[in-house]
Amino acid sequence: MKTEREVGSAVSQDKLWNAMHRYDPKGKNTIAASGEGSWFVDEKGNKYLDGVSGLWCLNLGHGRQEIIDAAAEQMKSLSYFPLTMSHQPAVKLAGKISELLGADYQTFFSNSGSEANETAFKIAKQYHIQTGNPGKYKIISRYRAYHGSTLGALSATAQANRRVKYPSAPGFLHVYPPYSYRSIFNGSPEETDLKAAQLVEEMINWEGEETVSAFIMEPFISGGGVLIPSMKYIQRVAEICKKYNVLLIMDEVVSGYGRTGKMFGFMHAEGVQPDIVTMAKGLTSGYLPLGATAVKSEIYDVFKEQGKDNHFRHVSTYGGHPAACAVALKNIEIIEKEKIIDRVDRLGKSKLSKFKQLEEHENVGKVRQVGFLIGLEMVTDKKFKTPLDDATIGKVLGGCKKRGLIIGKNGDTVPGKNNVIIIAPPLSSTEEDLDFVVNTVTSVIHSL
Ligand code: PMP
Repeated sequence: MKTEREVGSAVSQDKLWNAMHRYDPKGKNTIAASGEGSWFVDEKGNKYLDGVSGLWCLNLGHGRQEIIDAAAEQMKSLSYFPLTMSHQPAVKLAGKISELLGADYQTFFSNSGSEANETAFKIAKQYHIQTGNPGKYKIISRYRAYHGSTLGALSATAQANRRVKYPSAPGFLHVYPPYSYRSIFNGSPEETDLKAAQLVEEMINWEGEETVSAFIMEPFISGGGVLIPSMKYIQRVAEICKKYNVLLIMDEVVSGYGRTGKMFGFMHAEGVQPDIVTMAKGLTSGYLPLGATAVKSEIYDVFKEQGKDNHFRHVSTYGGHPAACAVALKNIEIIEKEKIIDRVDRLGKSKLSKFKQLEEHENVGKVRQVGFLIGLEMVTDKKFKTPLDDATIGKVLGGCKKRGLIIGKNGDTVPGKNNVIIIAPPLSSTEEDLDFVVNTVTSVIHSL
């Protein structure tokens, strides 16, 4: 006879329409029961290290008592308050974000990365209307990028397999990304990346600069196969945006708050200061939902002049929830107190850089790594770089899971082919945890 727990879980899985249904029609998914640090336990008592930090968000791991207390205390003192007015945790957090970004920014809060990007698109368009350029409405993003699941953010997302069934909103354009491993251009990685940057200028010229509102990019494309461009690419794109009065929106949803060994990923590219920075995930380490769209004060100023109908018509009931802001403040306090950024930089170089050795394996075409963000591009042969088949990649993921490690895959290297294995452990993982991640993936790949 089934225990009560087994019956209960079977019923809940059966009724749950989760994102994994397409892989798991029989409902054999892992159902998590509890977590501690970088590890979680499923309902059957199996223990796993979460090698992708949930959805690259559980940066400080499970069970941080100070974060839990911050949420509870905030809920006790002010359980909810809308940001059509204001509340202290939001004010403090906006100030902290501006400090961390290294320039004067104002922040609009929402609940997720998708909403943070939607908000950015609306701000960019309205900014141009209010500064005498009403024709600037187009948003440019890169192929392979992921910017969210809502209509605008999905339209900026340019991965064929995600887009094919959902038509794009008007005005979203996509340009070839910096991807030196398979570049259509000849030359060194830096040269091919700079040619990719040049395509941004070409597109602005062909479309007409008077029609282009903003360019959105992640510093390191994460969801499209962990692409790590030359920093000169980011610098060049920033220059092009400035030249044509195109706002540079930096999507730091994954790379923000330490994932790459800097507080924000764009900080790897010296001299770059985006007009708008969007963030979510690591902002609260996933403890509560929160999105943020930080805009340079010059942009904000255009919205605040009195006596004109120029305010930002955008309201979010739960955006900037007091408890979520309190959690974000505590999360940032811990990142600073525990020197998480230095830790990611140091352990990324000393421990996770060992993944590079996997390039000796015939099926590992390229290892890309920055901080705690790693992509292993899997191929059947190094000469033709044919993407490795799903079944073999499934063997790697399955083999790791059997040994207690969860990792993932993405890429869209060619439409519909997810041949990049992704690894992004919590930033607070112990050194033993990191050794376990490296050793497990290495031994599973060598057993192929
Ligand atoms: N931007 C990037 C780069 C992302 O990876 C994601 C989510 N994976 C989003 C935006 C959207 O965030 P959310 O799922 O919180 O809406």
